[in-house]
Amino acid sequence: MKAAKFELDQAVSLEQALQALAQGAGMARALAGGQSLVPMLNLRLAPLDTLVDLSRIAELKQVHDLGNSIVYGAMLRHADFEDGRVPDCANGLMQHAAGQIAYRAVRNRGTIGGALALADPAADWLTVGMLLDARIHVASANGKRVLPLSGFVVGPYMTALEENELLTGIELQKLAPAARWGYYKVMRKTGEYADSFALALSDGARARVVAGAVDGAPLVLDQAAQALLAGATGPALAAIVEDELNDAGRDFTPGKILLHRTAVCRAIDDLRKK
Ligand SMILES: Cc1cc2nc3c(=O)[nH]c(=O)nc-3n(C[C@H](O)[C@H](O)[C@H](O)COP(=O)(O)OP(=O)(O)OC[C@H]3O[C@@H](n4cnc5c(N)ncnc54)[C@H](O)[C@@H]3O)c2cc1C
Repeated sequence: MKAAKFELDQAVSLEQALQALAQGAGMARALAGGQSLVPMLNLRLAPLDTLVDLSRIAELKQVHDLGNSIVYGAMLRHADFEDGRVPDCANGLMQHAAGQIAYRAVRNRGTIGGALALADPAADWLTVGMLLDARIHVASANGKRVLPLSGFVVGPYMTALEENELLTGIELQKLAPAARWGYYKVMRKTGEYADSFALALSDGARARVVAGAVDGAPLVLDQAAQALLAGATGPALAAIVEDELNDAGRDFTPGKILLHRTAVCRAIDDLRKK
């Protein structure tokens, strides 16, 4: 099937793009890397009159260093992080995580803003953003606002974005040089979305553990983080993680509990090796 007819608005500034969305009255939509939107258009799953192409807007590709945090422009592509063209606020985690997303062809086009705006529960940047306490910068023709990622993602494929709003940037705190991270992703074969994805972070005094690809917004696991700091290992660690997953209110099957528990324990093991 081919996409239905639409107008293509090739905005060259953020202001132009926001005006085009405002005038679209709900029938205009942003086009970032097109990796998810173009197949949806071809299947006629995304009704619209106008596509607002963001690829010519220089300000959406910028990086702003605010001292303690960095704001990454929404149109930075996964490959920009993978190839080290932008600074890494997380001691190498951004570069590593980007390199594990899909295939290189997808990473050349797919953007961090598109991934977060789509809010696929298995999207890698969603879990990374939750680990790093991301703040999402949003703009419309009426003004700007900043939301915590936990308030931005309201469910699978659902965000707090209004029809006339654009995600303009992702703000992440810089990690202290001593902070270490652990990473573990379960997928059937390279390039596929994760079946489970866990990340752990610790500077020795504070820790954070997140489970992703969990049928909704990623889960922040506070008890697992305490267990990480306390040095729990093996079956004791696994039992703490399993209990926390069971209490998370997500209705996981026993198979999913095993999968997510394994990913979380292995992410913690990965951190401890660093
Ligand atoms: C074969 C394949 C495998 C993949 N595997 C993985 C994987 O393993 N892990 C992973 O994390 N991802 C994976 N992806 C997803 C991919 O990496 C992209 O993140 C995703 O397709 C969306 O990014 P995009 O820039 O292409 O957005 P688009 O497809 O252009 O847009 C997606 C949606 O977001 C909206 N949008 C885009 N940008 C903005 C913005 N700035 N403001 C507001 N709304 C916006 C669009 O209107 C659209 O609704 C895969 C994709 C493919 C095709």
